[in-house]
Amino acid sequence: MDRRQFCRTTIAASVAAAIPFLPGCERRATVATDAVTSIRGISLSGVEIELERAAIKELGESMTGPVLLPGHDLYDGARTIWNGMHDRRPALIARCLNADDVSQAVTFARERELLVAVRGGGHSWPGKSICDDGLMIDLSQMNSVSVNPETQRAHAQGGALLNALDTASLQHGLVTTAGVVSHTGVGGFTLGGGFGRLNRKYGLAIDNLKSAEIITADGQVRRVSSEQDADLFWAIRGGGGNFGVVTEFEYQLHPFERQVLSGNIVWPVEQARDVLEFYGEWSAGLSDEMYAGPTLMTMPDGTGIVVMTVVYNGDPAAGEKELEPLRKIGTPMDDGVKVQDYMVTQTQDDVGFAHGVRSYAKSAMVKEVTQELVDAMIDAYIPDPRVFITNHVAGAAVQRVGETDTAFPHRNAEIMFVIVSGWMDPEQDAEVIAATREVYSKLEPFTGGYYTNIDTDGFETAGNYGPAYARLREIKARYDAGNLFRLNSNIEPA
Ligand SMILES: Cc1cc2nc3c(=O)[nH]c(=O)nc-3n(C[C@H](O)[C@H](O)[C@H](O)COP(=O)(O)OP(=O)(O)OC[C@H]3O[C@@H](n4cnc5c(N)ncnc54)[C@H](O)[C@@H]3O)c2cc1C
Repeated sequence: MDRRQFCRTTIAASVAAAIPFLPGCERRATVATDAVTSIRGISLSGVEIELERAAIKELGESMTGPVLLPGHDLYDGARTIWNGMHDRRPALIARCLNADDVSQAVTFARERELLVAVRGGGHSWPGKSICDDGLMIDLSQMNSVSVNPETQRAHAQGGALLNALDTASLQHGLVTTAGVVSHTGVGGFTLGGGFGRLNRKYGLAIDNLKSAEIITADGQVRRVSSEQDADLFWAIRGGGGNFGVVTEFEYQLHPFERQVLSGNIVWPVEQARDVLEFYGEWSAGLSDEMYAGPTLMTMPDGTGIVVMTVVYNGDPAAGEKELEPLRKIGTPMDDGVKVQDYMVTQTQDDVGFAHGVRSYAKSAMVKEVTQELVDAMIDAYIPDPRVFITNHVAGAAVQRVGETDTAFPHRNAEIMFVIVSGWMDPEQDAEVIAATREVYSKLEPFTGGYYTNIDTDGFETAGNYGPAYARLREIKARYDAGNLFRLNSNIEPA
């Protein structure tokens, strides 16, 4: 008998049922006590249901990864996501190691109409990758990235983090668009669109997606691309987690010199008007290579600052020239823009956005940085280190993709505002959230639509998807008529 069988039969039969941890067989352990014949779950419609212990055990035996129940040593770690606001307890966690595990978990949930949450990198601001009393499909262990330098493609598993994608690609002198905090997951990031500091040159993450492996609600493992299940491939490029669990993303990579002109220029907030007014004009004519995005924030000591984060994806001398007029504005407190490793900038915000911080965010799309918007930004800024206004800069390659070529509808936005807050003390929740909403309300009149990946309040999905919505609903009905995948910016099946 091999080790795997031994674990499954001898130990599983006699001991597994009684303890929450199986030394040596952790990767397979299904945990439930003999005394309990069923555990409480919650259905898709919010009704309490019983989950038979035998069925859970069967699920565990069908998977390579473990099924974790409350009491298991790994359970609390597995249910902890990035935003400290969300403390939820799933009935069970399927810690998947491959596509077949995901298929088993999806089938288990669908057959019981059990509420499902899908966790990639765990950075959902509203905490949709975790649920109370449902099944959490945990992809955190499916986190590897491989790169083929000849085809210039990267294959990232569904639970990989952006750091792994950047690092593996850069090792081969290649890159693709990844977000600005390196511990964010490729999963949610890509499915919602995927903004990053190279998007003006290469487009959003979805514009670089060549194919994906996805487990749909029927449990089928499908490879989708523009040639295969093209409708589904269209829908996952902007439609979020609505259509299934993606176990692998295939990205187009681009040759890249990792020593790039990059870093931050910082001015005192008193000079914000000069900087932002200049930025409004200057940013309208930027090259595809230039990324420069302003942030208005307050340091812990109360000093208000404007930070311009710059990455110039090209010849540094040309970048210096393009940057020159910006550098002449006002009197910067600091100018850290120099030729340096791309990963310095890609990881500079990792600590500021540390795991466990309590956080609330709102996003909004902006077509043009007008004088009125600059006035509104200056009026909206508050001298509170917990709340800041930042931006993702789009335009260029992002705008050159047609409005309905993918399911991401906001192609004509020049920038995306993100109003973010972070704090540690739960007693400050109401106060900081109210302050963040207040800042947002001052900018909202100048915006149109929001980014589905940053929707803490749950906005109006139909209007936000605009011309893509009817097609998304029809595809949703084809692949997930029962709306099994509903913990997301949900698209109602047609
Ligand atoms: C600190 C921070 C920085 C960010 N920076 C950026 C940025 O630079 N650019 C940008 O565009 N966005 C950014 N975002 C937003 C980010 O794209 C979303 O929060 C995204 O959902 C995170 O993906 P995740 O896999 O880490 O999250 P998770 O919490 O694991 O997943 C979020 C949702 O995505 C779906 N999902 C995740 N993985 C899969 C999968 N493999 N298959 C199917 N569905 C899946 C599920 O519906 C899940 O509820 C940032 C967010 C944070 C918190």
